Amino acid sequence: MAEGRIMKALSGFYYVQSGEELYACKGRGLFRKQKITPLVGDFVVFDKSADSEGYIQEIKPRKTELSRPPIANVDQAMIVSSVNMPPFSSLLLDRFLVFIESKQIQPIIVINKVDLADEEELEMIKEYKTIYEKVGYRVLLFSAKQRDDMMDIKTLFQEKITVFAGQSGVGKSSILNAIKPSLTLETAHISKSLGRGRHTTRHVELLNINGGLVADTPGFSVVDFSHISKEELGLCFPEIKTLQHYCKFRGCLHDKEPGCAVKNAVNSKEIATYRYNHYLQFLEEIHLRKPRY
Ligand code: GDP
Ligand code: ZN
Repeated sequence: MAEGRIMKALSGFYYVQSGEELYACKGRGLFRKQKITPLVGDFVVFDKSADSEGYIQEIKPRKTELSRPPIANVDQAMIVSSVNMPPFSSLLLDRFLVFIESKQIQPIIVINKVDLADEEELEMIKEYKTIYEKVGYRVLLFSAKQRDDMMDIKTLFQEKITVFAGQSGVGKSSILNAIKPSLTLETAHISKSLGRGRHTTRHVELLNINGGLVADTPGFSVVDFSHISKEELGLCFPEIKTLQHYCKFRGCLHDKEPGCAVKNAVNSKEIATYRYNHYLQFLEEIHLRKPRY
């Protein structure tokens, strides 16, 4: 028995990295019966059946799980937005933040295309940076076009599994491509042995970058809150989460209830009004959603 990490899934095979070797593995038959699907990112126990081949016997418990892209054990998500083209939207950013928080994944905020910003826009973006940093998030102002600060992003990958997320057009693919060149060599031999180019099939793959693993996909560009309850929503806003124990009523949703510590913090400007308004908007969306059957 050996242990390793599923780095990529393609055509019914799971490619498990163990040490320096990559093993093309099948899942054991029992998995299908139990409706268990191994995921890229899974830490697994496998039997080596031949040179560079094997059978996955056991999937270790997952820390986190995403379905789009289907990856297990993601530690952090780079939520990319742009200053311009498309214009920065704090509402969209907060949507992504809530979704990522609800999956117990650490968000990192990347605001791309700073090269397109005029002075006024740069000022606005810096104000947002201050607000999100106060909430506790790491915020990177970035330009995939200029690329001189690429190292800033790379250092964040160490010992983590990272995915990229964000609205279409903000520059996710550009950032991924800019950080990738150093590993095209490492992945090239896999595709050759499979007899097909690595760009012909859509698949999920983890890339070794700077001591960490990065999902080779621009990730998701839309999010939904269908799995989040009204009570959980506050937990996805760190500044609300830390205050809600001080609300008068247990289970306070920080809406119309009296003695609400969160609303007091909004009134005293400790919590940004727009963040609170987004919270209320999401609460309403969750409230209105049709029951699921
Ligand atoms: P994605 O949909 O998020 O993957 O976005 P892409 O990476 O495809 O980028 C969308 C467009 O924005 C492309 O035309 C890129 O060349 C451009 N772009 C990406 N990053 C930057 C940047 O930092 N500055 C500028 N000016 N353009 C960028
Ligand atoms: Zn409250």
